[in-house]
Amino acid sequence: MLVRTKTAILFGVRAVPVEVEVDVSPGICSFSLVGLAGSGVRESRERIRTAFRNSGFAFPDMRITVNLAPADVKKEGSSFDLPVAAGILTATGQAEAEKLGTYLVAGELSLDGTIKPVAGAVSLAYLAKRMGLAGIIVPPPNFYQASLISGIDVVPIPTLRDFVRFLNGEDEFPPHPVPPRPGEKRENRKRDLSDVVGQETAKRALEIAAAGGHNLLYVGPPGTGKSMLAERIVTILPDPDEEEVIEINEVHSLNGSAAGGRILRERPFRSPHHSISYAGMVGGGNPPVPGEVTLAHRGVLFLDEFPEFRRDVLEALRQPMETGVVVITRSSHSFTFPARFSLIATANPCGCGYYGYPERECVCRPRDLVSYRKKLTGPVIDRIDMQVEMLPPPRRDIIERTSPGESSQAVKKRVIRAREIQKERYGKLPWKLNSFIPGRETLETASPTEEARRLLERASETLGLSARAIHRILKISRTIADLEEEKRVLPRHVSEALHYRFLDREKRR
Ligand SMILES: [Zn+2]
Repeated sequence: MLVRTKTAILFGVRAVPVEVEVDVSPGICSFSLVGLAGSGVRESRERIRTAFRNSGFAFPDMRITVNLAPADVKKEGSSFDLPVAAGILTATGQAEAEKLGTYLVAGELSLDGTIKPVAGAVSLAYLAKRMGLAGIIVPPPNFYQASLISGIDVVPIPTLRDFVRFLNGEDEFPPHPVPPRPGEKRENRKRDLSDVVGQETAKRALEIAAAGGHNLLYVGPPGTGKSMLAERIVTILPDPDEEEVIEINEVHSLNGSAAGGRILRERPFRSPHHSISYAGMVGGGNPPVPGEVTLAHRGVLFLDEFPEFRRDVLEALRQPMETGVVVITRSSHSFTFPARFSLIATANPCGCGYYGYPERECVCRPRDLVSYRKKLTGPVIDRIDMQVEMLPPPRRDIIERTSPGESSQAVKKRVIRAREIQKERYGKLPWKLNSFIPGRETLETASPTEEARRLLERASETLGLSARAIHRILKISRTIADLEEEKRVLPRHVSEALHYRFLDREKRR
């Protein structure tokens, strides 16, 4: 008898359908797997045999042929255990066939018949929906992830034996085996923008970066609160909408077991150490697993001590910064991972940290200074919209200040309003934030007044700005205008935006 089961394989976050055909017929006892099955898939034969025995099912002494279609796609991983096992049980009359074809089935079997968590539960559930299936079978730890996709039946099944009871209609497995739990909040909720003393310009820059999705670099000597401020960007970003929650969890569920089935309802904040490898940053391995740029999708990638990162690691940021995705190519396939993040970075002005700082002398050797400063130029820095210098606050600021600064919540309100304005303006266009306006559209979209335009022209002559820099200044100006709910970009918006181009000014020193 021939039985077909629907399952899937993952290419990055994209799941593609695979059909598992199981044929059990009389003949010499054998168990063969065909259809470009990788070594991990071939090992499933032993797991399935043992799981059968330990679950009280009879493994047939017959000729078993399993075909994974389409045959031109190489299949790796252990998620075919469950569909293959289900096919054999159905083909031998130990389970009923009716429901099997209407669910997407994926899962690795333990030797005792327990179904292990799968990677990519969100992507798999989304595929089941696109295929018009009734639902998806998942092990209980993946239940909440899969349930993010509405409109399909998500059935949590803990063991092979339970799966057979489900197929035979002996047990319903209600869709909510445990009460739904709220998304988990980040541990440290006490962080607030008002914790940071002074630094009004840097705070304002953070607000603009959050509002328009701009990348931001803080340059300054140690102890000015650069990292402290950068980390607080998550407290002023709007909460992710439902679609973004799905995207965030799609990425994080790729690491099936480690995520522990947790649903993330906050924007990710990733802060890799500067010793991170290329693969750790962009993703790697075979099949590839996502790197930091992907784990930061729809959130923040924070690079503390930016110039300390390896050059190739920094260069690798170019593709995701431009396109919002990472493509990793392996012999047989390309794997595409989403990587739309806000980059926030910090840098010391030089190796010792005090170059250009009025109250303390830089002790770097000239040669070291030049090589350090070189790291503050280049293709990635070129793509950072805003660069802000941070100096230690004057002492009287610390002593005299009695009233706390503005709270994150107050700033967040303005950020949300500015984002709403952008959403209205961009409607159905592929970009939703000012930072993503394509170069050729920048001038028209920013809509500067005649005076604002003249001011920008004058500044670009004085500073010798590139076309790219001018576009970035216009985009920042647009965001500043949006924060004020102004339709046109006015001269004061341009002159404020020029403040956030520290490195342009530096080049002229
Ligand atoms: Zn120095």
